[in-house]
Amino acid sequence: MTELSIVVPCFNEEACLPELHRRLSAAALSAGSSDYELVLVNDGSRDSTWQVMRGLADMDPHVVAVNLSRNHGHQLALTAGLDLCGGETILIIDADLQDPPELLPAMLAAMHDQDADVVYGVRRSRAGETAFKRATAHGFYRLLSRATEIDIPVDTGDFRLMSRRALNALLAMPEQSRFIRGMVAWIGFRQVPFPYDRDQRFAGETKYPLRKMMRFAFDALTGFSSAPLKLASHAGLALSFGSLLILAYIAYAFLAGRSIQGWTSLMLVVVLLGAVQMFVLALMGEYIGRLYNEAKRRPLYIVQEVAGGEARTGVRPL
Ligand code: UDP
Ligand code: MG
Repeated sequence: MTELSIVVPCFNEEACLPELHRRLSAAALSAGSSDYELVLVNDGSRDSTWQVMRGLADMDPHVVAVNLSRNHGHQLALTAGLDLCGGETILIIDADLQDPPELLPAMLAAMHDQDADVVYGVRRSRAGETAFKRATAHGFYRLLSRATEIDIPVDTGDFRLMSRRALNALLAMPEQSRFIRGMVAWIGFRQVPFPYDRDQRFAGETKYPLRKMMRFAFDALTGFSSAPLKLASHAGLALSFGSLLILAYIAYAFLAGRSIQGWTSLMLVVVLLGAVQMFVLALMGEYIGRLYNEAKRRPLYIVQEVAGGEARTGVRPL
């Protein structure tokens, strides 16, 4: 069995790959590991990421390059790499070098010293990211930790070190809408934080436009909490109570002979109720859509080809 696996999901990262390969190899060596593998997963990139990756695999026997059949999304690409890797200890890292590979020896030491199964990076600062991204991320992690029953650490990405048994527990979870940092928190074992400063992207731009960020946030919320549904029922309850008050007023107005005017208030109530109902329906729709998705039980991803890692026998997509 390999000692250390480093798993990297890549989407349009051609400009980052050579530098990534250089710094990851150096980090693995400086951590005292010569028995390591770099599992690079190409998530249906539209640039030459796959060609660059395959070139690295041809040149360096430590590199395993995995080509997915299309863009499956960050969390599924990561799952593909985790499924395929064979290491005793596993490092998850982004391709853009925002998370410094040089921290690997210190993270390994933390894992060893504190007898932990998971060492997760906590972002002390985030360089080179827009104020909007920082603010939404800040709000999101705090909202999430209030809404969920399990303790999902705040300001924590997927940059983390895991033991084989923690990874096996993670891989036993079959869900389609994957929020991996939450799922790792769910499995338990001893998990310790590792504060670090997040760098700028080495090259290229973020692969998380607003649309993907929203979807990611909803996957996290719906996957780990039914608080939004409760919110909906609380809103319903409050409104029902409100309508009782209005009803009382209507009765009073009728008895006092003042029941003709009131078009404005009538419209107000109709519009407000309509809006709230739509909102609640949409919220339920988010859950139902995900239920439907899970019910189909499709494979999480499709592997097109694997290059390198000669020892690795057979691809085992879920
Ligand atoms: N990524 C991916 N598939 C996608 C989007 C992103 O594999 O559909 C990868 C991307 O290449 C990077 C990681 O996920 O390695 C995180 O993306 P990014 O750095 O763009 O996100 P940000 O740091 O801006 O939140
Ligand atoms: Mg990034």
